[in-house]
Order: sequence, then structure tokens, then C-alpha cells
Amino acid sequence: MIRLEKVVKEYGGPLARVRGERVRALDGVTLHVPPGAAVGLVGPNGAGKSTLIRLLLGYLNPTAGGVQVGGMLPRDYAERRGVAYVPDRVSLPPAWTVRGALQAFSALGEVERPTERIQRIIRKLGLTEVAGRRVAALSKGNLQRLAIAQALLGDRKVMVMDEGTDGLDPEWVARVREMLAEWRRADPERVLVFASHDLDEVERVADQAVILSNGRVREVVDLRGGAGPVPAYRLEVEGTASARRVPEAFPGALPLRGDGHTFRVEAGGARDLTRRLGALIQAGAVVRSVAPDAGGLRDRYHRLAHRVEEAPKSEGAPRVPDAALADVDGGEEGA
Ligand code: ADP
Repeated sequence: MIRLEKVVKEYGGPLARVRGERVRALDGVTLHVPPGAAVGLVGPNGAGKSTLIRLLLGYLNPTAGGVQVGGMLPRDYAERRGVAYVPDRVSLPPAWTVRGALQAFSALGEVERPTERIQRIIRKLGLTEVAGRRVAALSKGNLQRLAIAQALLGDRKVMVMDEGTDGLDPEWVARVREMLAEWRRADPERVLVFASHDLDEVERVADQAVILSNGRVREVVDLRGGAGPVPAYRLEVEGTASARRVPEAFPGALPLRGDGHTFRVEAGGARDLTRRLGALIQAGAVVRSVAPDAGGLRDRYHRLAHRVEEAPKSEGAPRVPDAALADVDGGEEGA
């Protein structure tokens, strides 16, 4: 459904080039998102997540490489089929009302029976009391919920969110998670691509997490583990004596933190886990906690983020070889 092939995106025009200030935001990204998939983009600030999202929406063109959505250029796809988009910073005309904004979107998106749909979505996103209020007078949370309402309004096949639940309280984060699951269930072909700093949320919502740093895909982590590896758990034990017993019960246990008491362990399902924990406790170990570790996203993420900090980022943007500048599109934002 979505294909990125060796995508390079650089910012900065010819002047920046002369000054050696061009920024390579994406550096050879290849990514395929099949129909029905939910993909979470994670990575430190500046990793290239928003740039990738803007390429998918057709707001930017790649400097090199190709981007396709539904077999078309992203801009063509967005024009013909529409893409549901929840931006990180919502910008709507401040004088519009909540209801007016949704009416405007439904007119653009050719929504069937708009009045009814709008009423339903307003209720669903808890916007009833502010439906007549102007955008300028909305709280951050309400504004974000309006953006989500607008994204859910049209019957799109593709949804793209850039930190779309930022600014929502935990109750609403959970509700939106359920709405997204519902949205996906309603059409098994639907594709969701979202950038988030909340690894918990990514583990809950996405099938795969794409770890980006410095414009490159560092790892694609399978979070559903279907045909994937044996289920992993985070195991925390009390005291050094307990820690020493862990590898006996869980061969291949991986120490996770400097304290030596937390491990990533694998077990072949609940029964095997219980049997191994039994053996560990029998051997005299005291167990503090056990939790599923979906794909080990957290640990992989932190390992990679650490590597990024060590990279010589202080010199500014990575220099771009001249050959790569042959295909300059000005690099500025805008349609
Ligand atoms: P993320 O969303 O992961 O924080 P971005 O895609 O926003 O990352 O940014 C990737 C890199 O591109 C950063 O170094 C950022 O400073 C740079 N960048 C983003 N937008 C622009 C722009 N419009 N002009 C110049 N540089 C930009």
C-alpha cells in the first residue's frame, strides 16, 4: 500500500548548499507497508519521522528515491482518494467553530449523510459542549480531538498521524486507541502510519515499529510476533543471589540495566514461563516483577538512541556528497 524505495530527503536550497548547510533528513529509507498494517515510527527528535510523514502526504518531494501510496505518487493519491491526517500542530482558521470545521472537511471529503456523521463524531470525541466554540478558544486537548474527529470523518483507507495523541490525557489516549482499532476493524485493508514518542502506545497500537535515527531505518521491530520469535519478558529479581539464578532457569537471559537485576528472558508461552519461574523460585530467587516485552522495543530503542548520542551530531547536519545534489528540488516545504 505504501512503498518507500531508497528515499533521500534534503532540506535547504542552493544557498544552504554553498554554505554546506543542507540537512539530510532522510538518508536512504526503504519501507513497505502492506494493506491492513499499522506501523509506528519511533526515534529521537530530528530522526526524520515528520519528514517521512510529509512525504507520504505529498507535501514534500523526495530528493532521491521513490514514494508511492496505493501505486500512485502521494500527492495524486491524496487528491483522488484522500488521506486522513492528524498533524502534530493543528492549524485551522481561528474563527471557525468546531462544527464548522467538521462541516468544511466533510464537504471536501464528500462524506455521505454529513449532518448525522458530524453529530456522531462530535459526541464520540467528547466535543459536544464545545461544538459551537471557535477554534481559537479551544484547549490543546480539544483541538487535538477535533483533528482526530476530522481524520475519522471521511472513509479513508490511509491514516497518517504525527504525534496525534500528544496533549491528550491518558483517558483520551486510551479512547482514541480504541477508536483506531475500530477504524481498522471496519476495513481490514486500512493502513495506519503514526509517529510517536510513546513506546507503550506504539506497542499497543502498531503491528510493527520502525526505529529511525539520523534519517535511517535502524530496525523494524515486529510487535505481534505472529511467526516471529519466542515471546520475551522483562524479569526483575531481588538481590545479587537471585540474579545469579536467572540464567540457570532462563538460558540466554539478557541483562538489561546496570543494576544487574533486570533481564530480558524468553519462554515458549505461558506454561513454559510458569515452569521456568517455578524453577527459579525453587532455586531460592526472589522475583520482583515479570512483564511481557513485545519485540523488545524499549531496549532496542534505547540501545539505538544511545548510539545516536555518540554520533558526531555537534558538527551540524551530515555533509551531502555533491553527486547527491544533482536532483535538487529546492527542498522547501509546501505543496
Ligand atoms: P522528527 O520528526 O523525527 O523530529 P524531522 O523530520 O522533523 O524529525 O527532522 C529531521 C531533520 O530535518 C532534522 O535535522 C530537522 O532539523 C531537519 N528539518 C526538518 N524540517 C526542516 C525544514 N523545513 N528545513 C530545514 N531542515 C528541516
